[in-house]
Amino acid sequence: MPRPRAVVLTSGGLDSSTCLALARRDGFEIYALSFDYGQRHKLELDAASRQAKLAGAKKHVVARIDLRAFGGSALTDDIAVPKAEASAPVAPGIPVTYVPARNTIFLSYALAWAEVLGASDIFIGVNAVDYSGYPDCRPEFIKAFEHLANRATKAGVEGQMKLNVHTPLIELSKADIVKLGASLGVDFAATWSCYDPLPSGKPCGQCDSCRLRAKGFKEAGVTDPLS
Ligand code: ZN
Repeated sequence: MPRPRAVVLTSGGLDSSTCLALARRDGFEIYALSFDYGQRHKLELDAASRQAKLAGAKKHVVARIDLRAFGGSALTDDIAVPKAEASAPVAPGIPVTYVPARNTIFLSYALAWAEVLGASDIFIGVNAVDYSGYPDCRPEFIKAFEHLANRATKAGVEGQMKLNVHTPLIELSKADIVKLGASLGVDFAATWSCYDPLPSGKPCGQCDSCRLRAKGFKEAGVTDPLS
């Protein structure tokens, strides 16, 4: 029996690396998809390549798209990434690091590749518990996208496949994700989370992403090899 194929969105962060490990554990043949979208730095793409390799991905594609053409986010424009004391909680509301429609765009690419591959499964490591309030990380968005996917594709309309968008981390805390990743053997040293690394190439420790990561490791009682 050939293994079913799955497209796994891979950013090199904790969440998508844990998703890769889950897809592997569940017996999927992995097609890892990352984006060079005009983000502030390429360290996350290096981490994405390492994680795709570690998960035994059959193929890893880095799609080039230019979200800098529009800007509008601290990750794709000349807008400073907000920083706070390492111990400060992440502020409520949707922060300026939100990239307009990013997950809709990423999932659309994943859908296109899945249709070409004949894959009916897409994994995305979104999380709606310890997150930055991004609207495109919430369950209602994922459900709506899945609905769209099954009406947008030849494979969906002709009934050859029902596309499933897997979000195995959506209701987990960051600490639970760290514990799950550790149990699946994720190499945390080869992940990357920081939005705005220091000139030395180390994580800043002060952006939302660094602080959420630190909180997760601390609460899980696991040492972060990057800290
Ligand atoms: Zn940071």
